Amino acid sequence: MDAVSPRLEDLPVRDDLRGMTPYGAPQAALPVALNVNENTHPIPKDVSDDIVDAIAFALRDVNRYPDREFTHLREGFADYLGHGLTREQIWAGNGSNEVLQHLLQAFAGPGRTVFGFAPTYSMYPLLTRGTGAQWVAGTRAHDFTIAADDAVAQVAEADPDVVILCSPNNPTGTPLSLEVIDAVYARSRGIVIVDEAYWEFAPREQQSALTLLPDRERLVVSRTMSKAFAFAGARVGYLAADPALIDALRLVRLPYHLSALTQAAASAALRHAPTMLAAVDEIVVQRDRISATLAALGYNPYESWTNFVLFSGVEDPAATWQALYDRGVLIRDVGLPGSLRVTAGTEAETSAFLDALASVTPAR
Ligand SMILES: *Cc1c(COP(=O)(O)O)cnc(C)c1O
Repeated sequence: MDAVSPRLEDLPVRDDLRGMTPYGAPQAALPVALNVNENTHPIPKDVSDDIVDAIAFALRDVNRYPDREFTHLREGFADYLGHGLTREQIWAGNGSNEVLQHLLQAFAGPGRTVFGFAPTYSMYPLLTRGTGAQWVAGTRAHDFTIAADDAVAQVAEADPDVVILCSPNNPTGTPLSLEVIDAVYARSRGIVIVDEAYWEFAPREQQSALTLLPDRERLVVSRTMSKAFAFAGARVGYLAADPALIDALRLVRLPYHLSALTQAAASAALRHAPTMLAAVDEIVVQRDRISATLAALGYNPYESWTNFVLFSGVEDPAATWQALYDRGVLIRDVGLPGSLRVTAGTEAETSAFLDALASVTPAR
């Protein structure tokens, strides 16, 4: 991570930003990078050819501002999500991080609170504080699950303006049942955001929180093209919610926030959704292989419905992280005691990680 300059303290920066540290997953050019839950499979050639054509076409009009309402792209997301959704219920941004920021700009802000069950996605507190709101961290059971009655009691106590439920949760991989989401919604007065960034990696028979949207006008389900779609570098995230809630987001977005090139690329990629998602099954196989091998090595992998595995039983996480780094394998120390997190890569990358870890694991 780039260090924060000591001279920052001399600047008249907002009081509530003093002492904060920026998001800082290390970006190192290692042969095997399994640290930020990217899809490590490149997008298929026929799809990238089509995306290039779409961008070339969009370039002809790039002297003009893009469609501010990104109508075509919203239709694409509505089609992809199904559940009878229409474009009026869809919003998008430069990554789901921007979509979350729009939500918090509209519904959080100074004097308001945003609640989430920790440990959860490290960007939630940063995005919350960026709008001047206060982040309130709830708790989870030891295995990182959340029971409905406990969730409801914590939310009732905190009485937040916004609740963010990460389903399945990052950095733990933990599934969250619709029962918990519904109970939290019923007991809260504010906006309830369900972040389904990893939904495509969940078991196929499971129901998405999209099924809860009818008649719940404070509920939001956010998704991203960064993970399953192998599109992290393009920066495209989106959400589904009631049309009135989406009108609130129009108040805070920058005009023309989605570039014509982004809109063209994302729409083209969506037209090939099944091909773009072809690697998901293979990634799930590698994820489950990681969990099984970690257990055989004596670690404790947590249940995961995502493309990564959090495991505990690591005596010295910083030392293990460094030993893997020295062997060309980059994973993530998310700051949980005795734990590390690894993304499921291709079969070869996954083998490289498992072999490197086995070589640094003391016999037990
Ligand atoms: C990766 C991730 C996102 C996606 O962020 P983008 O801005 O879309 O790249 C959102 N939520 C969680 C929990 C994530 O892990």
